[in-house]
Amino acid sequence: MIHMHVYDALVVGGGGAGLAAALHLTRGGGVRAAVVSKLYPTRSHTGAAQGGIGAALGNLEEDSPEWHAFDTVKGSDYLGDQDAIELMCAEAPEVIIELEHMGLPFSRTDDGRIAQRRFGGHTHHFGQGPVRRSCYAADRTGHMILQTLYQQCIKHQVTFYDEFQVLDLVLGESGVAGVVAYEIRTGELHVFRAKAVLFATGGFGRMFSVSSNAYAFTGDGPAICWRRGVPLEDLEFFQFHPTGIYKLGILITEGVRGEGGILLNRDGERFMERYAPTMKDLASRDVVSRAIYLEVREGRGIEGKDFVHLDATHLGREVIEQKLPDIADFCRTYLGLDPAQRPIPIQPTAHYAMGGIPTDVDGRVVVDERNTVLPGLYAAGECACVSVHGANRLGTNSLLDLVVFGRRAGRHMAEYCRAAELPPLPGDAAEPTVATVQRLLEKGDEPAARIREEMQHTMMDFVGVFREDAGLRSATAKLRELADRYARVRVQDKGKWFNTDLMEVWELGALLDIARVTTACALNRTESRGAQSREDHPKRDDQNWLKHTLAYWREDGEVEIRYKPVVVTKWQPKERVY
Ligand SMILES: Cc1cc2nc3c(=O)[nH]c(=O)nc-3n(C[C@H](O)[C@H](O)[C@H](O)COP(=O)(O)OP(=O)(O)OC[C@H]3O[C@@H](n4cnc5c(N)ncnc54)[C@H](O)[C@@H]3O)c2cc1C
Repeated sequence: MIHMHVYDALVVGGGGAGLAAALHLTRGGGVRAAVVSKLYPTRSHTGAAQGGIGAALGNLEEDSPEWHAFDTVKGSDYLGDQDAIELMCAEAPEVIIELEHMGLPFSRTDDGRIAQRRFGGHTHHFGQGPVRRSCYAADRTGHMILQTLYQQCIKHQVTFYDEFQVLDLVLGESGVAGVVAYEIRTGELHVFRAKAVLFATGGFGRMFSVSSNAYAFTGDGPAICWRRGVPLEDLEFFQFHPTGIYKLGILITEGVRGEGGILLNRDGERFMERYAPTMKDLASRDVVSRAIYLEVREGRGIEGKDFVHLDATHLGREVIEQKLPDIADFCRTYLGLDPAQRPIPIQPTAHYAMGGIPTDVDGRVVVDERNTVLPGLYAAGECACVSVHGANRLGTNSLLDLVVFGRRAGRHMAEYCRAAELPPLPGDAAEPTVATVQRLLEKGDEPAARIREEMQHTMMDFVGVFREDAGLRSATAKLRELADRYARVRVQDKGKWFNTDLMEVWELGALLDIARVTTACALNRTESRGAQSREDHPKRDDQNWLKHTLAYWREDGEVEIRYKPVVVTKWQPKERVY
C-alpha cells in the first residue's frame, strides 16, 4: 500500500540546516510544512559538531565581518563566490544573537558575553594573525544548536516524519511535485506531494575508509537530485580534517589547537612552523593535512608510522576539562589516554563536502551556468553548494552556513508557497521507487559489505589528500567495476519491519554514484586548489581553472562536465600563504 500526503513545503532532513529552514518556513504562519528525516532529528550529524560557529562579534578583541569574509575567500582558495560569502559573514552576528535569544547556552566570557575562541584560518586585519571568532558551547556547539532549533520547531508546530527515508524526488512538468519515502518501521512507501522541497541531507564522508562522519552521511540528497538531472557542483573538493583519532577517524576538534594545542612529529618538532610561519598550527585545514602527510612520507611520523601527535598537555587539566570535556572523554574512551598527560595520536580524516547541489543565496537550486532555477527545489547545509566554501572550508563556517542559508531558504520557500499552486502529481510517481526496492530485494549474490569496503579504500588511496592522473584513472575503473557488482548486490533481510539492511544497501548505491562523480571531477581538474591536491599539477591555475565544476548525469553512465564562473567582488586571487 502506498500512503499519500499533501503539504505546501517539505524539508528532507532534520539536521541544523533542515530545522533552521523548517522553523523559518512556518514561523510566519500560513504554510503547511513537514520535515521528513531518516534519523530522529536530534541524532543528526550537526549534533556531533564540536568546535564552534563563526561570527565576527568581536567580544574579546576587535573583529569585523569584512575580515571574516576575506578569511573565507582566502580559505576557499578563491573558489568561493564572494557575494555569497560577504552576505554570510554580514548576517553571522545576527543569527548568533537570534540563537542566543532562542535559548542556546553559549559558553561565556567573564563579563557574561558569548565566549569566542581561535580557529584555523580566522584572522584579524586580513591575515595579520589569529583572532577569536568561534562562538562555542564548550565542545558541544552543534548539539546545542540542534536541540535549540528542534525545540523551536516543536513550538511552531512543524510536523515531523521521523525515520522516513526519502528515496526519490518527483518532478512534474514545471518543477517539483514531491518526494517518495520509505517508512523504516513498516517498510511501506509514502508519496508526499508539495509545492516546494528542500534537501538538507548532510554530507557523504562515508565514501572514505577513514572519516569523522556519522554512518548516515551517505549523500542521499545529492544522489537523488543527480539521478533526476540536477548537476552537482565542485564535488572534487572534499575536506580532510587534520586531526582524526589515529585509525578510527573520530574527530578531535580544531578547538584543541584553537585553545593552544600543537602538532608534533617524531622528533618532537612543532613542524607547522615550517609550513605556515604566521598561523602555524592554525593554518587552514588543507594546508595542515598536507603537512601531516608530508611529514609521514618523509619518515617523521611517530614511531615511523602514519600518524603524528596533537599535544595539549601544556594547557593544563582545568582548561581541558572546562573547554574540551567531550574531547577528553573521547580520548579516555577510545584511546585509554588522558590528554592532560599524554599527546593524542592523530591522522587526517575525511570530514566535509565543499561541493553539492548548486543553489543561489536563497537556497533555490540552480541547474546550469546561467543559474536557471528549478522551480520549487531548494537545498541547504552540507549537501548544498552556495558556494561559500569554494575549494576549502574554514572551521566554524559550516554551522554558520546551516543557520544563515537554512533561514534564508526557509523564508524564501514560505513566500514561494504562498504564491504557487500545488502542481499535479504524475500518475506513476512512486513507480520508480517500487521498482528499485523490488530489484534490491530480489536474489543477488554480491555482498554489500565487500563493495563498500573496496569503494572506501579506493577513495582513500586514490581520491584522498593527494591525487594524480594514474591513481584517479584506476579509481575510475575500480568504481565502474563496483557499480557493475552493485547491480547484483545481495540484501539479506527480506522483511518489512525495520529493514535497515535494505536501506544501507540503497545508501551504498548513493555513495557509489557520488564517489564516481567525485573521481571524475578530480581527474578533470588539472590543477591544485584548496582540498584538491594534484601531485602531477601542483600549482593553482587561475587562468584555466578559476571556475566551478558542474557534473551532470548522462544516460550512458558517464559524467558530463560543464563549468560556471566564480563570482569575484572585492578580492582578486592572490598567492595563499599562512
Ligand atoms: C564530528 C564533526 C564535527 C564538526 N564540527 C564542526 C564545528 O565545530 N563547526 C562547524 O562549523 N562545522 C562542524 N562540522 C561540520 C558540520 O557539523 C556539518 O557540516 C553540519 O552539521 C551538517 O549539517 P546538515 O544539516 O547539513 O546535515 P545533518 O545535521 O547531518 O542532517 C542531515 C539530516 O538529513 C537526514 N537525511 C539524510 N538522508 C536522508 C534521506 N534519504 N531521507 C530522509 N532524511 C535524510 C538525516 O536524518 C539528518 O536529519 C563537524 C562535522 C563533524 C562530522
